[in-house]
Amino acid sequence: MAGQNDLYTWCRDHRLHHKYSETDADPHNSNRGFFFSHVGWLLTKKHPDVIIKGKTIDCSDLLNDPVVRFQRKYYPWMFLFFCFFLPTYLCRLIFGNSWKDAFMVGCFGRYIVSLHTTWFVNSAAHMFGDRPFNEKIAARDNLGVALPLWATEGFHNYHHVFPWDYRISEMGFHNYNPFARLIDFFAKIGLACDLKRPSDELIAKVKANAHKEKPHAYDEPHEF
Ligand SMILES: [Zn+2]
Ligand SMILES: [Zn+2]
Repeated sequence: MAGQNDLYTWCRDHRLHHKYSETDADPHNSNRGFFFSHVGWLLTKKHPDVIIKGKTIDCSDLLNDPVVRFQRKYYPWMFLFFCFFLPTYLCRLIFGNSWKDAFMVGCFGRYIVSLHTTWFVNSAAHMFGDRPFNEKIAARDNLGVALPLWATEGFHNYHHVFPWDYRISEMGFHNYNPFARLIDFFAKIGLACDLKRPSDELIAKVKANAHKEKPHAYDEPHEF
């Protein structure tokens, strides 16, 4: 419905972005400017390093998942149905809009807003904002990007320092992040497991040392 490519492609690019942030192997390398990291990377040919390093990213867990395989196989049809037809049809059904209005606003308008909301994480949240956890990386905490995303990926300095925290957000927003609560619920009914999160002490310690943290010092999951 989001129309942001299939799960496999999204996750592979995202893993590459975290591993090689701000290098030529980063699919939306923010060192190439705001426009490139926002949308330009989807309009141009991939840098050769993205393809070379992309092959070194282990995505076997994704390919072993039948849901991911199913969605990848039928993605073009699902994309047309869920991203274009369904929002248009629902707008017409619920609000009684004409087909044209339903398509322009309910479908295209919605798609444009949701795409830019996501893209601002790659552009604005890598350029503007605070770096309370690691001053040596480009990713920043940006409230303007975080709030439209329900207090999640816009806390991007935190997210790049603790990419394995399933809750993503910090600064006291953990408890207001509906997606973390959704994952908690899935864990309760057995659909999610091995949830990882740093202790409050570790977060405080990393924050106190923000100015001297090495890039990606906390990439490896810590169990608590
Ligand atoms: Zn991420
Ligand atoms: Zn990032």
